[in-house]
Amino acid sequence: MFPRQATSLSRVYNVTPRASLLCRRLPRTSNTPFRTSFSNGSPSTASKRAHSAGSATLPSSQLHKSKSAVRRLLSTSPLPAPRSRILRYAYRTVAILGTFVAVTGGFVVAFFIYDATTYNEEPIASDIPVSELALTPRRGGPKNLPIADHFVDDDDCAENKSVKHKPKLVILGTGWGSVALLKQLNPKDYHVVVISPSNTFLFTPMLPSATVGTLELRSLVEPVRKIVRRVHGHFLKAKAEDVDFSEKLIECSAIDATGKEQRFYVPYDKLVVGVGSVTNPHGVKGLEHCHFLKDISDARLIRNAVVRNLESACLPTTTDEERRRLLSFVVCGGGPTGVEFAAELFDMLNEDLCKIFPRLLRNEISVHVIQSRSHILNTYDEALSQYAEQRFAHDSIDIQTNSRVKEVQADRILFSTKDDESGKVVTKEIPMGFCLWSTGVAQTDFCKRLASKLDGQNNKHALETDTHLRLTGAPLGDVYAIGDCATVQNNVSDHIVNFLRTTAWEKGKDPEQLQISYNDWRGVARRVKQRFPQAANHLRRLDRLFEQYDADKSGTLDFGELSELLHQIDSKLTSLPATAQRANQQGQYLGRKFNKIAQAAPGMALNDVDYGDIDDAVYKAFEYHHLGSLAYVGNAAIFDYNGYGLSGGLLAVYLWRGVYFAQSVSFRTRALLAMDWTKRALFGRDLMNF
Ligand SMILES: Cc1cc2nc3c(=O)[nH]c(=O)nc-3n(C[C@H](O)[C@H](O)[C@H](O)COP(=O)(O)OP(=O)(O)OC[C@H]3O[C@@H](n4cnc5c(N)ncnc54)[C@H](O)[C@@H]3O)c2cc1C
Repeated sequence: MFPRQATSLSRVYNVTPRASLLCRRLPRTSNTPFRTSFSNGSPSTASKRAHSAGSATLPSSQLHKSKSAVRRLLSTSPLPAPRSRILRYAYRTVAILGTFVAVTGGFVVAFFIYDATTYNEEPIASDIPVSELALTPRRGGPKNLPIADHFVDDDDCAENKSVKHKPKLVILGTGWGSVALLKQLNPKDYHVVVISPSNTFLFTPMLPSATVGTLELRSLVEPVRKIVRRVHGHFLKAKAEDVDFSEKLIECSAIDATGKEQRFYVPYDKLVVGVGSVTNPHGVKGLEHCHFLKDISDARLIRNAVVRNLESACLPTTTDEERRRLLSFVVCGGGPTGVEFAAELFDMLNEDLCKIFPRLLRNEISVHVIQSRSHILNTYDEALSQYAEQRFAHDSIDIQTNSRVKEVQADRILFSTKDDESGKVVTKEIPMGFCLWSTGVAQTDFCKRLASKLDGQNNKHALETDTHLRLTGAPLGDVYAIGDCATVQNNVSDHIVNFLRTTAWEKGKDPEQLQISYNDWRGVARRVKQRFPQAANHLRRLDRLFEQYDADKSGTLDFGELSELLHQIDSKLTSLPATAQRANQQGQYLGRKFNKIAQAAPGMALNDVDYGDIDDAVYKAFEYHHLGSLAYVGNAAIFDYNGYGLSGGLLAVYLWRGVYFAQSVSFRTRALLAMDWTKRALFGRDLMNF
């Protein structure tokens, strides 16, 4: 017996960790514990192996050692009885729950400790140096108004002091373009002043969701002062009224504490106009009966109006006809904003209404979209716009295409449309209790005023800029315009003489008398691409273009042939879309360029250089990169990227949310968005108005 045990145990000794584990795991029977463990299951094999190994290989001293090792390794006291499976599960569940409670508790305690540190019991007021000129500004300018050369927070901290005498950069507006610029700017290069009637940045792509309570209004806005603070700038809640380009003064208006309008000037070295646009009325009568969706206050008004109609529809005094009218929602405009609003409204009526309102309402509700083109979302790929139409047809949202609104009355909307049967244009009407007007954008009065003062401003819809985003007609490098309020002029052919000048100079000829060889043409094309990056797409096959426009097959292009070629390129260039994407890219572009200008400034001052095209010298022209378009179409979403489309149900909706969640401006708004989506899933949309 002993040698067998010794053999077995000497193996245990050699493979101690695994074997001992194995021993512990195996149920112990009274007299054959190790045979089961180490003998391959056969008693004869085990006894043979034990015998030969034990007697032949171990001298007695070692045998004693192994014996004591055995005693140390194996206790003869009985092992605890195996636990039942239920007990084991219960034990594990309690352990996991305990850990969870402990960790959560830890977080809660940590949060309370942090929260306690955010309160301040001691008053923090201290002496602040304020310039006399900030408190009583000098008067001047064409209208002899106060001029805000200095600000009350110029000396607030060391950083503010350090930028006090830097070039004055004034940014008008706190929308996509301006905020992108502020986020890109180096904090110590400019004395920044931001002027806007709104002290928030609004995340517009999700605004339709806020009109029906899917998202809360505050989840879509970010306080702009926080963003301005990063660059140690100043914010003025005021409206720009006019600009005096010769004296470099912006005339602003603001409502003071007594409700009176006050006017003052703000001086600038560089001015960026990013004031956005207003809704295009298209000259239609009765828009006072409509709602608009441009701003956060519009979303609040819409939400209140929708809930008010629902409540009125439940009153015992409301007739059937009146109820149907109150529950008739009309959207004028089948672009992304109108479509997304209609989709959100339908989702709310379909998913939440019946839970708390009488079910009759659901049957009486109608949603109509009036669109002047043949399809809704007509700027998207055709397949996607058809998908959206199918989706709306499935949701019983009525779409009136090829229809133009003629007039909006208090209780109905009149529109002209082609009669399907007769093919004639007829006037129809829809009784309505709510109308959203969302039919594209137009210029603000401020921009119209600026355009009227400047030469070369011929566009009725937006301020014209060159490809460096400098306002056409304003002194070079002083004023820039970005976002919805501006359009980039790509008049390639107007600059033909400029493009030919270098070649003409090299050949000592008049640009208009030049005969351009293929090599010269490559040089010209390179300069065109540099100046007008948006034209690069149309200048890919230079050899083909050269061949095509060399009408007399002389092997050279003359001035007329080249200008024809450039005219053709002009006609292919479309204006950039009025989207957040474009405004954001333009803001970032200006931020990067201003940083470069600030870097170059000391060198230029040293060499007395204060003339020439500095923008062109320090940075390339603006190039727009289209990153695709998204739209929400009612528990489904569509994605369009340069003609490649993707559409789908809830998975696409999650993707759509993910994109905007990632693009959201701060951690605060992201946290609020996540909470709102969770709240909608758990408790439904909020259908209260106050
Ligand atoms: C409901 C809705 C949904 C949209 N969805 C999308 C989308 O999904 N994707 C997309 O790319 N685009 C979308 N857009 C378009 C996008 O919001 C605009 O293209 C973008 O906001 C333009 O940015 P901006 O900086 O030019 O102007 P805005 O963002 O409009 O900001 C203009 C700023 O100028 C201020 N301002 C106005 N007048 C003056 C003045 N006289 N003086 C000083 N400040 C002034 C305003 O208060 C505001 O702060 C949507 C727009 C809306 C309304």
